[in-house]
Amino acid sequence: DAMQIVDAFIQEVSSQGIEDKVEIVRTGCFGLCELGPVVIIYPDEVFYSRVSLEDVAEIVEEHLLKGQFVERLVYQQSMENGVIKPLHDVDFFRKQKRIALRNCGTIDPEEINEYIAVSGYQALHKVLTKMQPADVVREVREAGLRGRGGGGFPTGIKWETAAKQQNAHKYVICNADEGDPGAFMDRSILEGDPHSVLEGMALAGYAIGADHGFIYLRAEYPIAVKRVQIAIKQAREYGLLGEDLFGSGFSFDVSIRLGAGAFVCGEETALMNSIEGRRGMPNPKPPFPAVSGLWGKPTVINNVETLANVPIILLQGADWYAGIGTEKSKGTKVFALGGKVVNTGLVEVPMGITLRDVIYEIGGGIPGGKAFKAVQTGGPSGGCLTSEHLDRQIDYDTLLSLGSMMGSGGMLVMDEETCMVDVARYYLDFTRDESCGKCAPCRIGTKRLLEILDKITEGKGTLQDLDKLEELSEQIKAASLCGLGQTAPNPVLSTLKYFRDEYIAHVIDKK
Ligand code: SF4
Repeated sequence: DAMQIVDAFIQEVSSQGIEDKVEIVRTGCFGLCELGPVVIIYPDEVFYSRVSLEDVAEIVEEHLLKGQFVERLVYQQSMENGVIKPLHDVDFFRKQKRIALRNCGTIDPEEINEYIAVSGYQALHKVLTKMQPADVVREVREAGLRGRGGGGFPTGIKWETAAKQQNAHKYVICNADEGDPGAFMDRSILEGDPHSVLEGMALAGYAIGADHGFIYLRAEYPIAVKRVQIAIKQAREYGLLGEDLFGSGFSFDVSIRLGAGAFVCGEETALMNSIEGRRGMPNPKPPFPAVSGLWGKPTVINNVETLANVPIILLQGADWYAGIGTEKSKGTKVFALGGKVVNTGLVEVPMGITLRDVIYEIGGGIPGGKAFKAVQTGGPSGGCLTSEHLDRQIDYDTLLSLGSMMGSGGMLVMDEETCMVDVARYYLDFTRDESCGKCAPCRIGTKRLLEILDKITEGKGTLQDLDKLEELSEQIKAASLCGLGQTAPNPVLSTLKYFRDEYIAHVIDKK
């Protein structure tokens, strides 16, 4: 695997006697996950993909010693007429804007000095030495940052509400319970740049008056867990977490809590129940966590990507950030681009970019010359959009108005061979499985929806079943207690709306 390749490079470079001229840096994901293991040689910016142990000696000999690139391993799209293009000119990267992912794939996430060398913890220093908590809240509010975990709630308003509460104890929680099938944005940030999240948490703590934070992290992400543990330890050693940071009198520390993989624990009240040692089930809101959260104390919960944006906003200023994106959706969004698309991986794009740009320009289009059929955004809570929507821009409000949603950033592309009824059934099966069972509309409703979908996919459904699907979906949305149930029918409703003919093709009475 990749770690063995690192070891092989270290050994080969040393046996060639060039260890003082070559630095080998282990990084997190660079985005093109599917092409891994990836090796990038700087300063040439030569991008080698799918490197194996057997290739190591050749790369060292040819590239590092003789200065000639190994053509058979060079990522095809980075070559034009035998010349290698700089990475930012490669199709996959050209239309991206990396803010949350700014350091992923370039720094060693296990070495705090590498984060510090790229302006890491400068925002914290600036804020603690020059700004009042209220200034920090205002800056984040004016930047227009909205929650990247799915809800899209304005981060500054959440912070402002928590900051206003009079309470000696407050908390910051980083929601790293990424559970959407196919989504791995948060995992990548924690594995590739954990300090950006810790710094974001400390800044949130200062803004609201909290001295402790929790990262609620999936136990299924062992590399992320390890890297966050190392990052916390190093930040404490460097005086960047702990007592009296930068002599400001402000203290802040972070602990990790591991989640056991329940999708519903991504819901904030279920997550807090889980941290408190109870079964991870949602509670009705209000009260909102910013008023009464963890152990009844005011609590700000932000997701990983949201927090990774915070240090750079405070360093570069609200105006800079608010200048990127659309009027109501500022900044960038990271998507896990997958499915039937040539380039799969993590992409970060400015809000307002079109679906077409992401799928065709960055994603390289549909493989095998097949036709595009649909794109699913927002995972199990989102919906499916069609070729009619390819030129619509990606932002919170546009996606919602089309019957889908941004969600945490899953983006699954489907080609002409995909059965949309199967797609709806797949997502519903997932949410039915993950329903915590606390409320009847979701517990029983998703089960009934799945039964109807099963009947339809088995060719035993009727037109009346399609009406039942719609009616029941609306009831589940309206009556469920938490976001899981309220959004679970979205894949069914959006496919019924845009691909009704496919449902009709499955039923017995077609007219
Ligand atoms: Fe649990 Fe579903 Fe009700 Fe949410 S909507 S509380 S997941 S049963």
